[in-house]
Amino acid sequence: MSTTSEPIEWLVVGGGIHGVHIAIRLIAQAGIPSNQVTIVDPGPRLLDAWRRCTGNTGMTHLRSPSVHHLGLNSFDLMDFSGANRRGKGAQKGDFEAPYARPSVALFEAHCDELIERYGLNERHVEDRVVGVEPDCETVTVTLESGRTLTARHVVLALGASSQPRWPEWATALKADGAMVKQLFEPGFSLQPSDWPERVAVVGGGISAVQAALRLVGEGRQVTLLARHPFRKHQFDSDPGWVGPKNMRGFATVTDLSKRRRLIRTARHAGSVPPKLYRSVKRAINDGTLQHVITEAYPTQDDDGLHLQMKDTRIGLDAVLLATGFESHRPGGALVDALVQTHALPCAACGYPVVDSHLRWHPRVFVTGPLAELELGPVSRNIVGARRAAERIVRVAMAS
Ligand SMILES: Cc1cc2nc3c(=O)[nH]c(=O)nc-3n(C[C@H](O)[C@H](O)[C@H](O)COP(=O)(O)OP(=O)(O)OC[C@H]3O[C@@H](n4cnc5c(N)ncnc54)[C@H](O)[C@@H]3O)c2cc1C
Repeated sequence: MSTTSEPIEWLVVGGGIHGVHIAIRLIAQAGIPSNQVTIVDPGPRLLDAWRRCTGNTGMTHLRSPSVHHLGLNSFDLMDFSGANRRGKGAQKGDFEAPYARPSVALFEAHCDELIERYGLNERHVEDRVVGVEPDCETVTVTLESGRTLTARHVVLALGASSQPRWPEWATALKADGAMVKQLFEPGFSLQPSDWPERVAVVGGGISAVQAALRLVGEGRQVTLLARHPFRKHQFDSDPGWVGPKNMRGFATVTDLSKRRRLIRTARHAGSVPPKLYRSVKRAINDGTLQHVITEAYPTQDDDGLHLQMKDTRIGLDAVLLATGFESHRPGGALVDALVQTHALPCAACGYPVVDSHLRWHPRVFVTGPLAELELGPVSRNIVGARRAAERIVRVAMAS
């Protein structure tokens, strides 16, 4: 591992879907030797946040199609599964219609094979980055442990998983001693059999529905609490945003507030794919799941935890929040300090203004949510990692 006197070429902050894919492309496509790539992530293994979040929902298949994965070529995942390009020859359950969405197990086995092939576990430094200090030649990266690393280029692949959204009422309820958990809370593993009888799952999107059905499957009395009726969409944004159909127009928009509005409108927040919609409707119709659309939220008094509505009171033992992630700029104090010290440009929404290579500073690149104003509505997804890597690798190949 490098010390401050021996800079490595590329240091990736964050070992999630984005960080790992970018590292793979730097090695496999740009020809950067693997010992010149380092990934810093506090998790005990790469992709830990992904595995924790998807594991907690109980999802069996991805929402995205088979061509969205961490390998280089579109059909790599199909090839890995042993199927032909039309999916023939795949094991039962490997892909699910529509759009040949891969199983979580297959997708992760493919990730593991890539991590192994490119020796990324050996390049993983289990630590948190607390400071990024670029100068003309290098970037000095300070870790929580006090150690410093230097690199010629840094990629911020921070994701949003470190900032699960907690509504104020839920924070207060938890402080009052009630059992309240956030589905994507770092360190939390949902074990339905450990949960009490009556659970409110809060949220109206795919993860709320998946978690609610998981708890129902373990015999819990579940009330799904949402502020809106189900919104049915196959994907979390229209596939037109993956390619030039919508992105050509997006790229011509120079007003970044307008770009932010386009992203907000394009993303089907709190939506549910049709197949899951049918499953949840079945559970509601056969009485195994209660669905309540309300602005009310659970409270606690001398008679215990409950949801009080106009005419009804639903008794509860626990609350599971499936309220997603905060929408403010990820990175907290680390990114705030970088912005302030180096006067890095930000739009009115607080997000980075970057060039077409996703460069925020000559030596600092971004991906995921931080690259949203450049990559558009798919920036946070797996395909967003692919789009980001394509652009960053062009710089790596030229330098
Ligand atoms: C349940 C769920 C299912 C999803 N399913 C799909 C799907 O089917 N298809 C799709 O395209 N997308 C899907 N997504 C969206 C997206 O692909 C995932 O959220 C993905 O994990 C995002 O990857 P990421 O690398 O940006 O972020 P993360 O997975 O959040 O990884 C970022 C990593 O950076 C680390 N980090 C943060 N700050 C620091 C720091 N200062 N120093 C070091 N490390 C740091 C974090 O600890 C984390 O490990 C899903 C998301 C969720 C939550």
